[in-house]
Amino acid sequence: MVEWIRVWVVTTTWRRWRDSPHQTTRLVRQARTAAELRVLIEAARADPLASYSYRSQRILDGKPADRCRNSHRYWSPNWTRFDWAICGCGGHHIWICLHPGCSDVRVEPDFAYDCTPTWPRSSRHRAARPDTARIDDSSC
Ligand SMILES: [Zn+2]
Ligand SMILES: [Zn+2]
Repeated sequence: MVEWIRVWVVTTTWRRWRDSPHQTTRLVRQARTAAELRVLIEAARADPLASYSYRSQRILDGKPADRCRNSHRYWSPNWTRFDWAICGCGGHHIWICLHPGCSDVRVEPDFAYDCTPTWPRSSRHRAARPDTARIDDSSC
């Protein structure tokens, strides 16, 4: 299951690589919690030769599904259609199982109440969509 999470990306820069304890002019690190962010910023502040900036960013976190709900493995493009739904939340993976007799559609992350996904055109005519009801719900 994958989900969108918010992280902070801290970029520390030095004018000369020799000034950096990491022997580089640019170091990019990621913090997942406010506490981690504080540690990175304090480290950057403690270095008089360094300057830093940070921004928050949403990333997909977690392990993607590797099989459909009928236990068919997503191992081959012949048996699986991979799609991406553009959405205000960042987007959703869509897996459509093409195994004979199976038309399972998985969406990850799950649609949230405020999602406004644009279903990929390529898959619109394929497979019955068990998630249709949820897509319609989300537009209310
Ligand atoms: Zn399947
Ligand atoms: Zn969404």
